[in-house]
Amino acid sequence: MTDQYTLQDPTTQYPKPDDSWKQYQEGAGSEQEQHPKPDAGETSYRGTGRLTGRKAVVTGGDSGIGRAAAIAFAREGADVVLSYLPEEEADAKEVVQLIEEAGRKAVAFPGDLTDEAYCEALIQKAVDELGGIDILANIAGKQQTQESIQDITTAQFDETMKTNVYSLFWLNKAAVAKMKPGSTIINTSSIQAYAPSPTLIDYASTKAQINAFSKALAGSVAEQGIRVNVVAPGPVWTPLQQAGGQPTEALAEFGAQTPFGRPGQPAELASAYVYLASPESGYVTGETLNVNGGMPTP
Ligand code: NAD
Ligand code: MG
Repeated sequence: MTDQYTLQDPTTQYPKPDDSWKQYQEGAGSEQEQHPKPDAGETSYRGTGRLTGRKAVVTGGDSGIGRAAAIAFAREGADVVLSYLPEEEADAKEVVQLIEEAGRKAVAFPGDLTDEAYCEALIQKAVDELGGIDILANIAGKQQTQESIQDITTAQFDETMKTNVYSLFWLNKAAVAKMKPGSTIINTSSIQAYAPSPTLIDYASTKAQINAFSKALAGSVAEQGIRVNVVAPGPVWTPLQQAGGQPTEALAEFGAQTPFGRPGQPAELASAYVYLASPESGYVTGETLNVNGGMPTP
């Protein structure tokens, strides 16, 4: 069986998109209904004890990149509180099972991150059920494509900001209040922060904010021994993209513009989160780690 340590050719390791990738789902999207099925490392991620005994909170942990990070954290030895929307229970159940199969504790805590009280309760959940929090991985996000600025309603703009930026503020604030020295926060930006698509005006601007927010916070909490970093993915095959994140037609070429000619799979992001969560990255803070198939960034 291959794992993330097996020598592989990145150009052929995962499929390239074609017409069969076109699909659309209402709401947040379900990983179980996505085709081809994304690889979140379910059968391939091999842990080596890099996060033994850690207490982690992962948002968006049911599917896509969050699912890959949650599986990897557990296989590296961490207990995990999973945040996701109630409608995503079926995806989340699979992740809970995978965490338990890794011999770690999984706490499922669904809710809406646009609600400040839920964000505070989520951090408190880790304190109550895991005995504290030393890793916060903010991976949830909202992305809805629109042809023109005229098509972006105030309601959509508000929801994108609330999901991607306000929740970040509430969660980072609540976590920092509970974290001990050595703890780490990992926020999730995007290639969209530097190369914004004309069809993602609201989303792209939140991702630029997340980079700046994280650098500022990193400087502010460094004295407390807390590190804050960012992962900035390029195109990755997840439910977000076929739940309105891209125009359906565009999915036939999703990720084809990267030097590798294919999108990333969630499993390929997991090690970036593990690295930034572990003391291996102990002298790294305020950094954005781009995992985007080779697209140039500033
Ligand atoms: P995904 O759909 O699998 O994950 C996003 C998750 O966000 C959902 O599963 C959902 O649980 C959560 N979420 C959304 N709104 C929420 C709300 N109001 N309350 C609680 N949870 C909510 O998609 P993904 O691509 O894995 O996204 C993960 C992160 O990666 C996002 O921040 C996204 O912006 C970022 N990202 C993705 C790509 C990509 O191409 N897939 C590229 C760059 C950045
Ligand atoms: Mg999901």
